[in-house]
Amino acid sequence: MLTIGSHLSVSKGYAAMGKDALKIGANTLQFFSRNPRGTKAKAIDEKDVAAFRQICEENHFGTLLCHAPYILNACSADPALRELARDTMADDLARMEYLPGNLYNFHPGSHVKQGAEAGIEMIADMLNSILKPDQHTTVLLETMAGKGSEVGRSFEELAAIIDRVELKDKMGICLDTCHVHDGGYDIINQLDHVLDEFDRIIGIERLKAIHLNDSKNPCGSHKDRHEKIGEGCIGIEALVRVINHPLLCHLPFYLETPNELPGYAREIELLRNAYTAE
Ligand code: FE
Ligand code: FE
Ligand code: ZN
Repeated sequence: MLTIGSHLSVSKGYAAMGKDALKIGANTLQFFSRNPRGTKAKAIDEKDVAAFRQICEENHFGTLLCHAPYILNACSADPALRELARDTMADDLARMEYLPGNLYNFHPGSHVKQGAEAGIEMIADMLNSILKPDQHTTVLLETMAGKGSEVGRSFEELAAIIDRVELKDKMGICLDTCHVHDGGYDIINQLDHVLDEFDRIIGIERLKAIHLNDSKNPCGSHKDRHEKIGEGCIGIEALVRVINHPLLCHLPFYLETPNELPGYAREIELLRNAYTAE
């Protein structure tokens, strides 16, 4: 059974979001922990979360993915912004304990002229200050397209962050198909080779989630513009190989394509029909 969902809005509550997932034929979903361009979060409504958990259980949802706000930068040159990233993510992880056993994904950050090495140190420091041995959430670094000074543009940079984290068993990777393609990894023609490299440098067991997106731009463009499934430069055949790959087919897939609910529903149906793995 393919575990697939899309990014959904939690602004009307968790249970409403769960119902949206059912409407589009999803059996998992991704949501923002709070406003993606802000840092304010509503107080947790325990009844609403309980209703949501019931929907997930009754419908055999796979692992859920919570995405940190985009604006956070754990390796900003400004200590106040680093502190904001740390405090916000620490609060998100505390809130995630209401949904134990799931995933929390963030963009490692942008080093803005400080150099990737300095960025990697600061990101690892932040993780070492917020990860707790008793937390029930796995924290994922997202593979980045390498736009501007983004850290996490290569498997080496992601491995270097995890290397410096003390609680490594709390860490994993979310592979974004648009980002790695834009970052120069040829997942269209060389998927096996890219996954070999991932395994050699990071370890395939760290791969916990896939952001399944097509890309508006060619491989190596470092742009990060998502496209609808099958309408971009990656194309439907390559994306179908991704969902069916023996090393990937068991993972949860999350669409972040430019769609409203009906578009997501069509893509989920298309991909379910193309899923041939067990
Ligand atoms: Fe992301
Ligand atoms: Fe993504
Ligand atoms: Zn993106």
